[in-house]
Amino acid sequence: MDDLKFGKRNKRGDWTPGDPLKTGPLFELPFRPLAVLQWLKGYFIPWNVLFFASACVFWFWLTPSWETMRSLRWEWIVLLLVRNLVAVFLFYGAFELRLYVQRRQGNRFKFNGKFPGDVKSDVFLFGTQNIDNMIRGLGTGVPIWTAYEVLILWAFANGYVPMADLSTNAWWLAGIIVLLPMFHELHFYLVHRAIHIPVLYKYIHSVHHNSINPSPWSSLSMHPVEHLLYFSGSLIHLVIYSHPLLAIYHLHFAGFGAVVGHVGFDKIETSDESAVDTHAFAHYLHHRYFEVNYADGGIPFDRWFGTWHDGTPEGDRLMNERWEKKRAKVNAGQTESNT
Ligand SMILES: [Zn+2]
Ligand SMILES: [Zn+2]
Repeated sequence: MDDLKFGKRNKRGDWTPGDPLKTGPLFELPFRPLAVLQWLKGYFIPWNVLFFASACVFWFWLTPSWETMRSLRWEWIVLLLVRNLVAVFLFYGAFELRLYVQRRQGNRFKFNGKFPGDVKSDVFLFGTQNIDNMIRGLGTGVPIWTAYEVLILWAFANGYVPMADLSTNAWWLAGIIVLLPMFHELHFYLVHRAIHIPVLYKYIHSVHHNSINPSPWSSLSMHPVEHLLYFSGSLIHLVIYSHPLLAIYHLHFAGFGAVVGHVGFDKIETSDESAVDTHAFAHYLHHRYFEVNYADGGIPFDRWFGTWHDGTPEGDRLMNERWEKKRAKVNAGQTESNT
């Protein structure tokens, strides 16, 4: 595909979409039902539908019986860990292989003209972004994700929390399915803002931000405390009259879904004529500029709180203006304390 029909490339080889990024229309006035329906469609197809399908496969075929999950035994816990590790390795690995190893679409639709594999950096374990990212994602990310899954399944299996029924409470559960990604965005926004508080950033979140040019394995490359916070949203299923299938779905769009925001390409080509949108640009800008786009724009938190960057020169200008103001404030504070 000709990516220059959809955007432009600068001298460094960085590609930028032609249209400014937009936030979701759900909270815009006047309310536009057709625009909201269109947005909802893009919200679920294809990615969230894919993660719901993977959750169904995991729940119906790859999860032990209620009987087994009533007691916390290593046998089934290790089994869940291995199935999650294999799944993440295959899913992330598929993006990595196609886009970064085989480079099947070159740098078409790629936000950053460089490939992380071509650059060595001391900030990473073994000097390599990919190795560092894989160790963190598979070493602590997936085990912590699995720990939440085990806790939730064990609580449901023992009847410690009430459980909705897949057939008799289908409408209730369908409502939760629609709202869950939005809850995830709210939870992610709050957690993310919190770990940008300087001291937390320094010791925890900076690990994730080492990947300024993110690639699939950067998705879960975090400090273990950030993993703990990031996956903690799944605990909501213990209080909202839900079902383990939905808890697994929640963990899948948090865990597998993270790759969609870190893939580094705006579109993944599926043929010469067609491509799938990734919606990764908002989060790419966050990795590049740090203090913008704390959420992904589905719910316009960043627009409400003045940190939205739409990827245009105007977005740059607003960001720089904010920085100037912040710097002036810090300088004024320092002068005051010196006098
Ligand atoms: Zn990120
Ligand atoms: Zn951040």
